[in-house]
Amino acid sequence: MLKPLFVVYTINKGFLFLSERDAAMKKIGFIGIGVMGHSIVENMMKHGLKVNVYNRTKSKTDELVRQGAAWQDTPEAITEASDIIFTMVGFPQDVEAVYFGKQGIFKADITEKLLVDLTTSTPSLAVRIAKEAEKQGASALDAPVSGGDLGAKNGTLTIMVGGDTAAYQTAVPVFETFGKTFNLHGTAGKGQHTKMANQIMIAGTMTGMTEMLVYAEKAGLDMEKVIDTLGGGSASNWSMNNYGPRILKADYSPGFFVKHFIKDLRIALDEAKSMGIDLPSTKLAEELYSRLAEKGFENDGTQALIKLWWGAEG
Ligand code: NAP
Repeated sequence: MLKPLFVVYTINKGFLFLSERDAAMKKIGFIGIGVMGHSIVENMMKHGLKVNVYNRTKSKTDELVRQGAAWQDTPEAITEASDIIFTMVGFPQDVEAVYFGKQGIFKADITEKLLVDLTTSTPSLAVRIAKEAEKQGASALDAPVSGGDLGAKNGTLTIMVGGDTAAYQTAVPVFETFGKTFNLHGTAGKGQHTKMANQIMIAGTMTGMTEMLVYAEKAGLDMEKVIDTLGGGSASNWSMNNYGPRILKADYSPGFFVKHFIKDLRIALDEAKSMGIDLPSTKLAEELYSRLAEKGFENDGTQALIKLWWGAEG
């Protein structure tokens, strides 16, 4: 069921105001209409928000435009036409291009606007964006998400936010249109650090699930029954419950791209290194996923890790 109310908090001279009329007038910009962006925008529009969209490959926005979104030609144009601008592109270099590029967000007049990056990217880039936004009289949040393609479709994403409290409160009513759990974790970059903590955990659940399935199959067990039973015990986890059944159907479509998971694991390992800590299990997961990508499966979903054991046919 849709949440009926959309309200935006506006900050004025340090006081928090809540205005439904403001809400109706707020325009959302969304840059990056991929697996995640498409579903998030759909959920925003189902809640009555007006959304301007831009994507590198224009055709990916066609369906959303049919549903009422408005196409804009560049990130700069999106920013000019919107009050709160969301970005959800692939890699840190894409984020950099969208914000700092020739027709990027920072080329527009961003005074008093809010910029929210949902991409999983580096903490240092989040800090750079926040500083530039502040310099130009705007606010920025890093707000990477978790919950996968299904979480995006169902509007139940988890959102991990870094930035200042006033900006966070402004974004909350919009987060409510596509997320279920969200928290402010501290200043700029802390959202990305929280997402890295999340990915370190996922490295364990993905490799654990894969080896569990390899073992269970070799032992001649009924695989569906194994997933069902383990799902009720202490080994239950999101990776197994969501990706286990997909693997049994040989469905390796993304979901969450192998190439993006490798990007995340490398960011996590870089950050860990700069903090002087060693994460051997995460390192091994990065090696396994890199091997999978070298075999040509970087555009598969992360559940394809099992192809290292079961071969290309699954
Ligand atoms: P995706 O399907 O590849 O979507 C990314 C979109 O960004 C693509 O449509 C791409 O355009 C667009 N893009 C890239 N650079 C651009 C630029 N310079 N200007 C305009 N558009 C640009 O990936 P996704 O699965 O939605 O993931 C997006 C981000 O969320 C990644 O950082 C990923 O790690 C993270 N994430 C994903 C999931 C998941 O389950 N999928 C979950 C949590 C977090 P093209 O169509 O031209 O390539």
